[in-house]
Amino acid sequence: MADEAGPAGADETSVKEAWERVRRRLRAELGEDVFSSWFARLELAGILEGVAYLTVPTRFLKSWLEAHYAERLRLNCAAELPAPNGVILSVRQVARDAAAAPLAESALRSRAALSPAPVKTEATAAAAIPGAQPCERDSVDACGTALDRRMSFQSFVVGKSNQLAFAAAERIAAAPAGQSPYNPLYLHAGVGLGKTHLLQAIAQEARRQGKRVAYFTADRFMYGFVAALKSQTALAFKEKLRGIDLLVVDDVQFIQGKSIQQEFGHTINALLDAGKQIVVAGDRLAGELEALDERIRSRLGGGLVVEVGELDETLRATILGSRLEALQNAHPSFQVSPDVVAYVARVVATNGRDLDGAANRLLAHATLSGQLVTLETAEAAIRDLVRTREPRRVKIEDIQKLVATRYNVSRADILSERRTAAVVKPRQIAMYLAKSLTPRSLPEIGRRFGGRDHTTVLHAVRKIEKAIGEDRSLHDEVDLLKRMLQE
Ligand code: ADP
Ligand code: MG
Repeated sequence: MADEAGPAGADETSVKEAWERVRRRLRAELGEDVFSSWFARLELAGILEGVAYLTVPTRFLKSWLEAHYAERLRLNCAAELPAPNGVILSVRQVARDAAAAPLAESALRSRAALSPAPVKTEATAAAAIPGAQPCERDSVDACGTALDRRMSFQSFVVGKSNQLAFAAAERIAAAPAGQSPYNPLYLHAGVGLGKTHLLQAIAQEARRQGKRVAYFTADRFMYGFVAALKSQTALAFKEKLRGIDLLVVDDVQFIQGKSIQQEFGHTINALLDAGKQIVVAGDRLAGELEALDERIRSRLGGGLVVEVGELDETLRATILGSRLEALQNAHPSFQVSPDVVAYVARVVATNGRDLDGAANRLLAHATLSGQLVTLETAEAAIRDLVRTREPRRVKIEDIQKLVATRYNVSRADILSERRTAAVVKPRQIAMYLAKSLTPRSLPEIGRRFGGRDHTTVLHAVRKIEKAIGEDRSLHDEVDLLKRMLQE
């Protein structure tokens, strides 16, 4: 059954075939309709360090697949591809960039060898290269990433918790190239507090002033690099990146994979050394970006570091008010009284994303029922937003403690060298939970489990995955542990 891949690893053809098998499995599991709606345009860009980089043509497809099929994709890829470390989805580049010429071949062979997977089409790969060509559309940055015009400085509501971040962002965007007052700028905050909004505003304003801007989300950066390796244009990727004035990287905590992290580090260093502006956002302090090299962490943390705080009630009410106003422009009959705005801003206390969601739901309710929004209808419309909270950030230590208690062993047992069945099973479950519930890498998890090797962790993860698939009661038990940890 298995492919005749040499000991050195799968070759191109066998990866291609393995990818076909993944597709066949998905089709068989989900049926032709679901498959053709969601998976037909899914492509494998490459495999690097055990991670499969998959691409889709639209942002919507990406978020849909992530929301509904992430686990299934991961399992199927792990089963067929040399990709035990997971799957990363990103949006393929728009076709107009496909003209970017594939460049230098040298110097990449050794790296390319790391990643045996083929690129589906040349265009996909070349498209990932940030174009140095001038932008044709003002909503597209120097790398061809579409920027969201709605996320501007004008639409950003300033309050106590974000005024510092806002002021820094504005000054950076306005400063002439090479004369930035703060470099790098590192923004950190939890979900939905406006990081992406500020980053996009900086990128757009800087672009408006004629600066060459590259805006990346972590997955775009990774995909860009992997695809450039595949098409042997990594040098071009680097050089073009280094030719810009401003590099903006969003959600840096998701950058993973050793050579990509290294590449990211080199890029940051080279740009900073050349006096170029860097703006990075993450969900934690730079020092806690465990995946990144110590030197890069300290460089990112060594500039201006600003935390964006929680949105207070007044700020929430203003943000919601401005959202509703925007919706009213398009739907003049849609009216929401100040009472309702105040109520929603009070109860939807999580973040800006939920406020967006609330505004859209109020609109949907009003247009579907054809009635005015009252406090009662508002309450019904946003009920689930009030209940849902962001899942808690799970700590490896908490996993170890909970699993130890559940199986009547000590945490020290879990970390120890002991190999009796009574200890091995909980240890493997704890490792599995650490991999599923935290963003930590396999080597990092190994370190936190008494200095074990990443292959040990991988073995544990696979073993538990398989066991869960075969044993209903274990499945339920692990599920319960997961829920307890996330509550
Ligand atoms: P993050 O990147 O920190 O997760 P986003 O920037 O994506 O958060 O914000 C989530 C939503 O909330 C976006 O629609 C954004 O425009 C909105 N938002 C957050 N903070 C503000 C603010 N201060 N003013 C206006 N809109 C905001
Ligand atoms: Mg964001």
